[in-house]
Amino acid sequence: MSSSTVTEARRLGHFIDGEQHAAAGAVFERHSPATGELVAAVAAGTAADVDAAVAAARAAFDHGPWPRTTAPERAKVLRRFAALIEQHGEELAALDSEEVGKPLRLARGDIAGAVANTEYAASLAHTLHGESWTDYDADVVAYTLHAPAGVAALVIPWNFPALIVAQKLPFALAAGCAAVVKPSEFTSSSALRLAELATEAGVPAGAVNVVTGVGADVGAPLSAHPDVDVVSFTGSTVTGRAVAEAAGRNLKRVSLELGGKGANVVFADADLDEVADAVVFAAFFNQGECCVAGTRLIVERSAQDALLERVLERGRRVVVGDPREDATDVGPLIHAGHLDKVEGYMQEAKRAGAEALLGGGRASVAGCERGHFVEPTIFGGVDPASALFQEEVFGPVLAVTPFDDAEEAAALANGTAYGLANSLWTSDVATAHRVAKQIRSGTVWVNTTIDGTSAIAFGGTKASGFGREVGREGLLEFTELKSVQVRTARRGLALTQDAPAPSAA
Ligand code: NDP
Repeated sequence: MSSSTVTEARRLGHFIDGEQHAAAGAVFERHSPATGELVAAVAAGTAADVDAAVAAARAAFDHGPWPRTTAPERAKVLRRFAALIEQHGEELAALDSEEVGKPLRLARGDIAGAVANTEYAASLAHTLHGESWTDYDADVVAYTLHAPAGVAALVIPWNFPALIVAQKLPFALAAGCAAVVKPSEFTSSSALRLAELATEAGVPAGAVNVVTGVGADVGAPLSAHPDVDVVSFTGSTVTGRAVAEAAGRNLKRVSLELGGKGANVVFADADLDEVADAVVFAAFFNQGECCVAGTRLIVERSAQDALLERVLERGRRVVVGDPREDATDVGPLIHAGHLDKVEGYMQEAKRAGAEALLGGGRASVAGCERGHFVEPTIFGGVDPASALFQEEVFGPVLAVTPFDDAEEAAALANGTAYGLANSLWTSDVATAHRVAKQIRSGTVWVNTTIDGTSAIAFGGTKASGFGREVGREGLLEFTELKSVQVRTARRGLALTQDAPAPSAA
């Protein structure tokens, strides 16, 4: 796809009530983070657009067919949706690669994940059954059912645009909810395309809506909207707090998938070649713009030199480049402000006494002179109290810190505000279980990293948020548990003591 056709084709409006609306009012422009070229002009949504989308979703939920379909019907539509995502995989991958700056081959992997999530959500539609009680009282049959929660607001960040939509939307739809999606202002295109594909698959008008625009003008009114029943948010901890506050004011449910500060905790008995591959992958994959990135290497002191030698050898081979090129491993950062932020962390690390073992500054890429590139960077001797160890950098920057025993390793892994995902590496099964138990995070990987499937619930603890995505738990986030008790004979409930005894009739 040449960028001129993209530019001509991509003047994007909102998707409301089954239709793409031309961008009538103000628009904002998205420029490629690699080349600086204009790639899309997107409607700058307002609270009025949010009202229109929520009204469409509300009507679809309260009166439309979607929440009233049977499980097999919803599953069938979702399977068609998955097939359409797969069919349009190249197009969706190109949109995300172009707007995020991620290498095209990685964007293809995201779309494969989106297909898998949607297929899995289709199968989950069949599992919305509750429990039953038939013997606590001879005249009662009681059961629970998982009713759809209502209108779901899905707030999406820019690092995995299509994939994160597919971690939420198919699960909301499988539950029978109607949804309003708010993509990041930097990456709106794939969400809009996914809404069209959902509609083509048979999701009725109003059940999927997308409002584009900036967080303050769209995300904030959406999270606070009285007609939204549940909010599922992925993004920064700071914004997550604002979303939770807004949702709390009218007591809507919220699930928050926030940042992370993941570690690879490596014991000396691990397979260091395997670990070195994983450490480089986890630190630099998706430019480090990944909530589950392995941003800290916490390594047993006796193995530090041997591991670092291997990590640095692999790190030097990482290719920073144009995301459209097959050879590229790491593309540009999302925008200039983010580049400044990541560079600031590098400078601060140097001031704090960390040693730059690899990289440490901006990178230049031929043909992409306006791109926001940084070098894959590794700092050794990082102080656990420093900003680099504590804060989410969201760039390809790895902090290395040694430990002397398992207690210290677990304490270091737990020693930040975050608790999303950590990995540990050891050939000793007892160490694996003991330390996995000690680490406070939503996910612990043992002898692997950034791993998983649509069936395994994902989410955080501490400042990484609460609630779960994907898996059966991800589906249940979009449901309300309802208890139904059916009495099959008169109970004779009377408040006054002189009430007549119930007749047999
Ligand atoms: P944000 O948390 O601000 O953005 C995430 C989403 O929330 C975007 O769609 C954004 O819209 C929207 N949003 C912004 N303000 C509000 C609001 N008041 N109410 C509701 N929604 C809102 O992340 P940033 O883009 O600012 O990134 C900053 C940092 O966040 C990164 O450097 C990284 O550390 C972290 N981050 C973590 C992610 C994760 O996967 N956990 C993903 C992305 C970022 P818009 O962008 O259009 O303003």
